[in-house]
Amino acid sequence: MTKTAMKALAEATRDNDKGFFLMIEGSRIDDAGHANDPAAQVHEVLAYDKAFSSVLEFLEKNSVPGVMISTSDHETGGLSAAKQLHTTYPDYLWYPGALGNASHSSEHLARQYFTHLRSLPQHGAHSSTSDDVRAYLTDLLATGLGVHDATSEEMQILLNHPEISFYTFADIISRRSQTGWSTHGHSAVDVNIYASDARAAKALAGNHENTEVGEFLARWLDVDVGAVTKELREKGVAFDTVGEGGERESWMGRIAEEGERLHGLDHLDHAEWDFGKMMHKRCNVCGA
Ligand SMILES: [Zn+2]
Repeated sequence: MTKTAMKALAEATRDNDKGFFLMIEGSRIDDAGHANDPAAQVHEVLAYDKAFSSVLEFLEKNSVPGVMISTSDHETGGLSAAKQLHTTYPDYLWYPGALGNASHSSEHLARQYFTHLRSLPQHGAHSSTSDDVRAYLTDLLATGLGVHDATSEEMQILLNHPEISFYTFADIISRRSQTGWSTHGHSAVDVNIYASDARAAKALAGNHENTEVGEFLARWLDVDVGAVTKELREKGVAFDTVGEGGERESWMGRIAEEGERLHGLDHLDHAEWDFGKMMHKRCNVCGA
């Protein structure tokens, strides 16, 4: 997808001295972090790495100057290697091999499990027993996660609480790889910034606010972001939608007031410190 996008944009701007800007997002790395699913995350990171390499290759093969900046807007999950599993002093260990054995994400496995439960006859002589479900789960863990040693506690949680199986599957693989997590949300860990050209991106060496990455790109491309935004708003009115109350809503979404955050971490007033209450991106009390 990355290669096709770069090829199409290079073709479209062949006779144009302004070049092009392309944003490539490995968005499911974040989702795997929210799920605390290290197997899904490692595969998403590897896919991102492939996209990253193809951009480097494109830049090397092209005589037209270009720069690639790679970063993240935040870390998700509070990932750490060497999770402590016991009360005894932990060994400094991590088992990435356990991630290599998994062929599916916990999200996919939870969906499979739900589909299976829904397909079961609920009444009469053919009603299924927990033994049937247990056998199904044993098979699902083996084929999907490469796990053959589920404990009776893990099996019990999957049987009694299918509604949180998404997290249970992720926990099973996290324990076996000794991958630790501190949150299902975004974390405040500093993230890396990579650049294809150390000289061109010298301004991004060291520690920076993430807005400085955008400022660097605008400067490097010599783009007047304000003017482009104005043009997009004017030309994009055809894509505007009408809200439930009949009010017109910009296709770019509601524009935040100065200093206002449309979603994020400023909802402490509503937090009840209860797992599951705070949903990703939306505060389910005020809806913002
Ligand atoms: Zn997120």
